[in-house]
Amino acid sequence: MNSTELSAIRESLLSLKGAILNKTNEFKQEQSLAVTVSDEAEAASIDISNNISIHLHERDRNSLFMIERALGKISDGTYGQCECCAGTIGIRRLQARPFTTMCIECMEDQEDLRNSYHQ
Ligand SMILES: [Zn+2]
Repeated sequence: MNSTELSAIRESLLSLKGAILNKTNEFKQEQSLAVTVSDEAEAASIDISNNISIHLHERDRNSLFMIERALGKISDGTYGQCECCAGTIGIRRLQARPFTTMCIECMEDQEDLRNSYHQ
């Protein structure tokens, strides 16, 4: 992977992150509107920002976590390395799923494993 490809992936991770955080901001605005119409004294004691992560959808929270991890890997130079076999994850796969942590072979192995549990 060259640096142009890497920075393009970094950009898409950042925009994914932005999209999730934007949703959070919309939530914040809804909350502050709700707070305005309720008891103001009580509202003052509510720290909305601290509660945001609780209200994020599980899936979004998970995505944010994966995005942060991927960004961390980009900065420490381990991005694109499979967490399972330490092999290189294909660039196409990374472009399609920039916060993936496993190569396609390991992912398929895991899915096989998961499927076999249900049999
Ligand atoms: Zn692997």
